[in-house]
Amino acid sequence: GPLLEARSVERSYGRTPALREASLSVRAGEILAIMGPSGSGKSTLLHCLAGIFTPDAGEIWFDGRRLDLLNDARRSELRRTAFGFVFQFGQLVPELTVADNVALPLLLGRVGRRQAYPRAGEMLRRLRLEELGERRTGELSGGQAQRVAIARALVTRPKVIFADEPTGALDSLAGEEVMELLVGLARQEGTTVIVVTHDARVAACADREVVVRDGRVTDPYAGQVLR
Ligand code: ADP
Ligand code: ADP
Repeated sequence: GPLLEARSVERSYGRTPALREASLSVRAGEILAIMGPSGSGKSTLLHCLAGIFTPDAGEIWFDGRRLDLLNDARRSELRRTAFGFVFQFGQLVPELTVADNVALPLLLGRVGRRQAYPRAGEMLRRLRLEELGERRTGELSGGQAQRVAIARALVTRPKVIFADEPTGALDSLAGEEVMELLVGLARQEGTTVIVVTHDARVAACADREVVVRDGRVTDPYAGQVLR
């Protein structure tokens, strides 16, 4: 059955409707691309699915539970333990080293330093980034920084990775490398990936794509009762 679902979700910014009865169903282990024109509601949908925004109406289901009904503390806890995030820019702490950045989600989750740093090191080895461990992330190229961001998103072994234009700031070669890495790791781990993108080559890495237009989503799998 679906791992994550939006059911008839509505969300407005003041009087601007951003999502109108948006429904979407994502299976465990699926790599789903969310496409559509700028301003169509893709980011808003991603934020609702990730429990960052609460819908004005409709329901978000994660793993058999109503995500939108959890209180803030429980939602933050779920985001920290079950979800990982990769954004276009700015998510690394530039003054910290690569190893510190990758260990950070574990340290914030109260994993001790003696476990967090070896796990961060292991993730960096898998991404072939171990030689960068002591570098400050402010000194990295865009492609290196996105690989580190992926290492950081995956280090907690999340069930779902949410990626909003993860290759948007990269040239096409670096973008393809970043996407291949994300998809390859996700498949090895069985991680579900939801990626918002304008780039058809990024979407081509996904198992499936849905299109958002004017706040509406066309997903043939939405609304099937599979639980
Ligand atoms: P996309 O990700 O497809 O570009 P968004 O979800 O960012 O679309 O935006 C959907 C609509 O909501 C657009 O009309 C956008 O201008 C509007 N919007 C998004 N964020 C805000 C905001 N913080 N305040 C007001 N309007 C917003
Ligand atoms: P994207 O297309 O990737 O969503 P945008 O440039 O549309 O990027 O949005 C960047 C930021 O600006 C987001 O945080 C979004 O919520 C906010 N935003 C988008 N549209 C508006 C708007 N009309 N008014 C205020 N904030 C907005």
